[in-house]
Amino acid sequence: MQSDVRVRIAPSPTGDPHVGTAYVALFNYAFAKKNNGQFILRIEDTDQKRSSTNSERAILEAIKWLNLNWDEGPDIGGRYGPYRQSERLDIYRKYSKKLLESGAAYRCTCTPERLLELRNRQMILKQPTGYDGHCRERAALVEEQIKANMPYVVRLKVPKNEVIVMKDILRGDIRIDTSEVEDQILMKSDSFPTYHLANVVDDHEMCITHVIRGEEWISSLPKHVLLYDALGFEKPEFCHLPLLRNADKSKVSKRKNPVSLSYYREAGYLPQSITNFLGLMAYSLPSGEEFFSLNDFVSSFDLKRVSLGGPVFDLKKLLWLNGRYIREKMNIDEIVCYLQERLFSDEYLSKIVPLVRERIEKSEDFIEYADFFFKGDVSLKPENYLPEGQDIPKSIEIFEDILGGLENLSDFSTLNISEYLNGFLKIHSLKPKNIFMVLRLMVCGKKSAPPLFETLAVLGKARACSRIRVALQSMYTLNKQ
Ligand code: GLU
Repeated sequence: MQSDVRVRIAPSPTGDPHVGTAYVALFNYAFAKKNNGQFILRIEDTDQKRSSTNSERAILEAIKWLNLNWDEGPDIGGRYGPYRQSERLDIYRKYSKKLLESGAAYRCTCTPERLLELRNRQMILKQPTGYDGHCRERAALVEEQIKANMPYVVRLKVPKNEVIVMKDILRGDIRIDTSEVEDQILMKSDSFPTYHLANVVDDHEMCITHVIRGEEWISSLPKHVLLYDALGFEKPEFCHLPLLRNADKSKVSKRKNPVSLSYYREAGYLPQSITNFLGLMAYSLPSGEEFFSLNDFVSSFDLKRVSLGGPVFDLKKLLWLNGRYIREKMNIDEIVCYLQERLFSDEYLSKIVPLVRERIEKSEDFIEYADFFFKGDVSLKPENYLPEGQDIPKSIEIFEDILGGLENLSDFSTLNISEYLNGFLKIHSLKPKNIFMVLRLMVCGKKSAPPLFETLAVLGKARACSRIRVALQSMYTLNKQ
């Protein structure tokens, strides 16, 4: 029988599908299924400049690939839709109006120049930065300015000198003094809501009973609590999961680990081993068994068993699990299928063949020449990655920039890659020959290889970027010597 438990993930479609999204999705999914509740997927695309439909599509595909199927979402609808925030603007405007009328929020016409000056002043005086409430007490003047078409935002009027107590399922009571909370913007000057307003309104409107999300959102919680109270909404229960961490305990980041789910998919990781691995990050089965299926995870699931110790994103463990799946859960036919799909699909081969056909005289030559299209790692000694005339720190800087730029391409086509790379070299007055040769060594592991831009496009963003990242890691060691 269905219970009233309703949980959600609320990704912002501003980049590649992130492992952190999958991790939070897994725990929400398990909680919903274990409690016969509903698992909802909502797209938080209020940051119009950074959101893209490509990113939304990739996120949905990746979560589906992991078998974390949602019961309501932008693609399948549901009782509380629409499930994309950009389609719910009227709802947020209605609540913003309500907050203004009750005096829980106010309009602010401070210009970007004033805010910048304020920030600079606070930094010089070593004060905490944040809005100083300038427009709080000058409503009449602000009203005049708005009539004269001056742009404005709506801010939350955070009460002074109060202690907000918030309960977290895993952490107990969390107390925050309101002097640490600034008057948060709720509606931007383009009439779009900020994350805070839209998130609280939607969790209420969509009848969410438990908000299970990453620890990085704890600092937003006091603002949310104030909003729930100001709007007279009943609060859901909150549970903030521990952050995934790099080996050095910093928050998991793309500089140190591949964080895009597309990478794991392209590199041949199985969805079962990814969910197993992400489950282990903050949970252990009562039996202590580390190798488990999604069903095992769900049937044993108890939110109270989530452990708060900083889970380290250790790829060796993931590899070990993936190996066990292949050895213990797949028969020969399935493994053949797995290899065909990942490495030898008609689609992949027909992209590679045009790039190498001039070079082959018999079938074996193909392996010789196109080997790097099928390998995981092609790394060379870091000395190979120094373009002529550049020292180590400068080379690191150049390739970090290039990596960042390539990662930001939402369509990883030959044309986009060539436009970006040529543009980059031009802006920085760098010689193409030197840089492109090093890039080729990073992604192909050898000098003689097909044209660079086409090769990058065929390898795909996730794999190409992962190779550049591995090359950069080895350059960091060289830099330390
Ligand atoms: N849009 C937020 C994100 O990108 C959602 C955070 C939350 O779950 O409240 O993760």
